[in-house]
Amino acid sequence: EHRNRIVFLGSGGVGKSSILGKFLTGKFSSEYKETVEDLYSREYDIKDSHLLVDFLDTAGNIAFPAMRRLSISSAHAFVLVYSITEPNTFEEAKQLWEQIKEVRENYDVIPCVLVGNKLDLENKRLVEKFDALNWADNENLGGAFLEASAKTNEGVTEIFKNLLEQVKTP
Ligand code: GDP
Ligand code: MG
Repeated sequence: EHRNRIVFLGSGGVGKSSILGKFLTGKFSSEYKETVEDLYSREYDIKDSHLLVDFLDTAGNIAFPAMRRLSISSAHAFVLVYSITEPNTFEEAKQLWEQIKEVRENYDVIPCVLVGNKLDLENKRLVEKFDALNWADNENLGGAFLEASAKTNEGVTEIFKNLLEQVKTP
């Protein structure tokens, strides 16, 4: 049976593991444990479709370009994460998207959700929602842009709902 691989990409520390952890276990930790690569397999029934999903949590940083290239080419969909408190992580998300397009040049549609995480830190916001929305629109990101907080759970379910919808209808 066909498995859908969903890869989490983004700078270190933006909350990739936390978002995935919150969704899969309902828990959040303020500790920072660096990820190398973790794979979580799940099954979902959505209306008439039975979905097999592998979530791949990556280190995401630019230190291992060959490894990232491999995770990009093996993916069906992407979650591209930045932190609304760190503009450089938004810039890195844009660079990652360029790499995704490069590796996946033969695909018309690349299922992807752009996530501005740490929405609970609104008072430390340095990336405007408008700017991210604009960029996502320009890049034709399937209209999939969300702000979220792994800490408060705001927007987390929506990320996965959006993602699974995109994966379900190729
Ligand atoms: P990753 O490197 O992208 O996997 O980031 P992590 O998930 O390991 O999170 C890095 C740090 O940011 C940890 O200390 C988390 O507790 C914290 N963090 C993650 N998501 C949020 C969030 O939504 N809000 C806040 N305030 N902290 C977060
Ligand atoms: Mg991590």
